[in-house]
Amino acid sequence: MGLIVQKFGGSSVADAARVRNVASIIIDTYKQGNDVVAVVSAQGDTTDDLIEKAAELNPKASKREMDSLLSAGEQMSSALLAMAIEAEGYPVVSLLGWQAGFRTDNVYGSARIKTVQPERLKNEIGKKNIVIVAGFQGLNGFDDITTLGRGGSDTSAVAIAAALHADRCQIFTDVEGVYTADPRKVEGTKKLAEITYDEMLELATLGAQVLNNRSVERAKKYNVEVEVLSSLKRVPGTIVKEVAKMEKMLIRGVTKDTDVARISVIGVPNTPGIAFKLFSKLAAKNINVDIILQSVGRNDTKDITFTVAKSNGELAVQTITDSFDLEEGSVVCDTNVAKVSVVGAGMETHPGTASKMFEALYEKDINIQMISTSEIKISVLINAEDADKAVSAVHKAFFPVD
Ligand code: ADP
Ligand code: ASP
Ligand code: MG
Repeated sequence: MGLIVQKFGGSSVADAARVRNVASIIIDTYKQGNDVVAVVSAQGDTTDDLIEKAAELNPKASKREMDSLLSAGEQMSSALLAMAIEAEGYPVVSLLGWQAGFRTDNVYGSARIKTVQPERLKNEIGKKNIVIVAGFQGLNGFDDITTLGRGGSDTSAVAIAAALHADRCQIFTDVEGVYTADPRKVEGTKKLAEITYDEMLELATLGAQVLNNRSVERAKKYNVEVEVLSSLKRVPGTIVKEVAKMEKMLIRGVTKDTDVARISVIGVPNTPGIAFKLFSKLAAKNINVDIILQSVGRNDTKDITFTVAKSNGELAVQTITDSFDLEEGSVVCDTNVAKVSVVGAGMETHPGTASKMFEALYEKDINIQMISTSEIKISVLINAEDADKAVSAVHKAFFPVD
């Protein structure tokens, strides 16, 4: 017996049958004597459909109105799920983000949760109600609805688990857990029994959609153990926690990110302070920079290359062109690139991880444009067309089919 937070993603509630299935999972948990708070995403492709509808009327709609629109998806699914539970005769109440106490900053479209004021949630739980919360949304300092960024319902669930000191936080989805690569796209993947917060954070940030990276960040901060599991098959999933069993694995997973643009700045002066000037201008525009490569200077100039999110490519080029007196055509943005990464705490103590990855790419004749490493990950930038082939080859090298 305890307090259990459960989150159900869009595919888990895609139609009436799936909603009934989710209702039965929640009811079973409740019948075992637990208090249950369930966070729900919009049904199926609702969020994408709403984005399309908005674009028909105004492709440049304000982020404020977009948030108001997109939050409607979760408003619908939370009420529908509550109705399905009502139909089975159990006490239930659905709450929107603001009713559940979510207060966020003012960044429409990717707001960060500032606090979850848990009074209403506690009150409903005290009345023995099953509580269904619309994920992905909150209220900002202007009393406007905000959304938390794509995949943000995961973060809503972890935030509630932290605020209520829940005994368990379960993220139900359409796969059985976290795998060594996307099980829908790569052959021979293995389900992980456990993974650390740090590893999961890297995987999520580097493209593994199964958990939103901010949810992992929050889980680590508040020490919330998260279980990722299937809403369709009742088998144990993957536990995300501080320390995880290594299972004799050198790495935990392989992932790709295609939301990358590579900016090359050719012929900047080869003098001290240039990198500082360039990257501070980008920071002032809130542009996050990832992999950075600087050439050895020759004559009086050097080249600097770095990556940013695709959506920031144009702004980065403009910012640099405006800030430096460069020859025309010296700032180039290439969006036809992808980042492929291997992640795992094991590589810290095992030399040879990088060479194994590079060998797998070489064998497939894939050229590496840039490389970046940390203690627990290695990322390479390659041509976008090679990304899937690269993930499969690298995965096979680390996880040979037995
Ligand atoms: P939900 O709608 O439940 O939030 P998502 O689509 O956001 O589900 O995330 C689940 C999907 O993440 C899976 O269907 C799978 O294709 C994808 N995925 C990518 N990388 C991984 C991975 N390493 N392990 C498991 N799933 C992954
Ligand atoms: N419905 C939102 C999305 O599609 C939030 C979520 O699913 O977590 O991104
Ligand atoms: Mg998701």
